[in-house]
Amino acid sequence: MELIDHIISIFQQTYGHAPAHIARAPGRVNLLGEHVDYNDGFVLPAAIDRATYVAFSPADADQTRLVAADFDQEVFFSPRTIPLKTGADGSPLPEWAQYPAGVMWALNENHLEARGLNGVYASNVPRGSGLSSSASVEMAFVIAWQALGGWTLPPMQRALLGQKAENQYVGVNCGIMDQFASACGVENRLLLLDCRSLEWKTIPLPEDVSIVIADTKVRRKLTSGEYNKRRAACEEAVRLLKQDLPDIQSLRDVSVEQFNRFAAKLPELVSQRARHVVEEIERSKQAEALLEAGNIRRFGELMDQCHVSLRDLYEVSCPELDSMARIAQSLDGCHGARLTGAGFGGCTVNLVAREQAERFSQLLAEGYESEIGYQPEIYITRASNGAELLT
Ligand code: ADP
Ligand code: MG
Repeated sequence: MELIDHIISIFQQTYGHAPAHIARAPGRVNLLGEHVDYNDGFVLPAAIDRATYVAFSPADADQTRLVAADFDQEVFFSPRTIPLKTGADGSPLPEWAQYPAGVMWALNENHLEARGLNGVYASNVPRGSGLSSSASVEMAFVIAWQALGGWTLPPMQRALLGQKAENQYVGVNCGIMDQFASACGVENRLLLLDCRSLEWKTIPLPEDVSIVIADTKVRRKLTSGEYNKRRAACEEAVRLLKQDLPDIQSLRDVSVEQFNRFAAKLPELVSQRARHVVEEIERSKQAEALLEAGNIRRFGELMDQCHVSLRDLYEVSCPELDSMARIAQSLDGCHGARLTGAGFGGCTVNLVAREQAERFSQLLAEGYESEIGYQPEIYITRASNGAELLT
């Protein structure tokens, strides 16, 4: 594979010998269960066939040297400089280096050996489009240090270490879904994660279906304020619903029937936000039986409903995402289409009959360009294995 050859050749030039190992960790996309992770709900992501690759060898000293091939930059750090968030020369670590350094920090915190390594890495997960390039970097480095450390952790434990690195070292307040999907992905299967218990299983995706990801290329800044407002509305709904349903801990514990009974007591906007969450959790509960039965049509309808709900009730869509989903839903072979991720920009996810995926992608790109005025980025992808040591 080209990307692997690329990092091997940079490794050879940089260190004068071939790497001992290659690790790979994928990005991810979420098919159903949006904005429910912080309400203890269920999410249905898949690892995708785009990944970060790290070529590495153990270093002689305890210093780690890393080349980020995509940035044409390198850093040096060691266990001594890690807590200071600096490189070996005392200068602050650039943002990109905080992800692998954060993994070393999290391993040290958990008393798992992370010895010095010489590495080169690169990725074909697009950065910042909501496909979790950051989690793929983290999971690739957990695999690398595991390979050199002589310890082994189950994939969910590796995911939790990556999340700890991102939350506490990089300082990004992400949930567990991204690292979970990158760590636990299984070829041709969706993952079903219970965000309360962290129990998970895989469910089949038919062989004749492609996952098509369509990037609107819209990048909205300052959406974290809106995100926090949504979370606050959900907390407010739980607080008020507790008057009638004293046993609930989160919206996860409220059935659609119960919600309908008490929704009128909530302020209008709070009710709207909470309705999305309650109904989306109900949809994601239905998904398992539908997919086990191979009922991809009905599953696709749930994806379409999810988009409407995110657009009208949760109000996290934008005109570009609405166009992308609407055009997709009108095309042959499309089972379902919706915005994926936090919203306000980024990507839609589409389930498309495999033999029509090329044509679908072409028509979607053309339709989007003629409505919005520029070309989107479209990736035909499939559910793939999670992070692993390749050699
Ligand atoms: P995403 O939705 O893609 O995860 P984030 O903002 O969470 O977006 O993470 C993107 C950051 O992850 C980048 O700014 C960079 O610091 C790091 N990163 C992602 N891909 C790479 C890469 N190929 N090489 C180095 N760093 C990367
Ligand atoms: Mg990320």
